[in-house]
Amino acid sequence: MKILISNDDGYQAPGIVALHAALKDIADVEVVAPEHNNSAKSNALTLAAPLYVHAAHNGFRYVTGTPADCVHIALKGLLGYRPDLVVSGINNGANMGDDTIYSGTVGAAMEAYLFGIPAIAFSQTEKGWAHIDAAAEVARRLVLQIERERMLEGPAFLLNVNVPNLPFAELQATRVCRLGRRHSAEKVITQDSPRGETMYWIASAGSAKDSGEGTDFHATSLGHVALTPLQIDLTDHANLGAWRDAVVRLTN
Ligand code: MN
Repeated sequence: MKILISNDDGYQAPGIVALHAALKDIADVEVVAPEHNNSAKSNALTLAAPLYVHAAHNGFRYVTGTPADCVHIALKGLLGYRPDLVVSGINNGANMGDDTIYSGTVGAAMEAYLFGIPAIAFSQTEKGWAHIDAAAEVARRLVLQIERERMLEGPAFLLNVNVPNLPFAELQATRVCRLGRRHSAEKVITQDSPRGETMYWIASAGSAKDSGEGTDFHATSLGHVALTPLQIDLTDHANLGAWRDAVVRLTN
């Protein structure tokens, strides 16, 4: 099994170090990750500038770009082979509900999925890396199970996994969840610059709005690992008919 590992927190983040350590004995692993923190970069590709790849002392390779850049470069030339699986993370903080739209951790995994390669994004629900080894053990076991079940030979999948920051023995069973929803984000924060201009900071994401039974928010609040299979078809299938009718009315 050949696994490409990436993330959005940067190649030196404890989450990717733990993920690499957990997977290196069960697969041929390579790390290609951003040089700096690229959280909330989603699927962004760098098109207006060249990208550089450097080798770190521990064998990781780091890129002067986004998470999706890393996976794109790796798959389209750098590796020279097609990995069986791409794993992203482990992210410093939750990627639940609408976080998945913004997440660079999910973006890296999604880039692989767009190329038809199975991919998994892993995140811890709280920032600060508490019990990161437990989350890495969750990742190791899930990857082993997927290989054992020969799921890498079937159609590609994209999984989003959120792990509560608990010791491994206290983690509850994995629950398959749908994404919840957050409230709209907090108000932007303004400050005066030294040159008298107003600066704006994007504030933190809102708290969970739809965190009912069956959601990732609900499962992780009870100590469960939350696993959500994702798709990338943004079509509003349920409303195709209504829009066809509306367009006929609007254009006739
Ligand atoms: Mn991040």
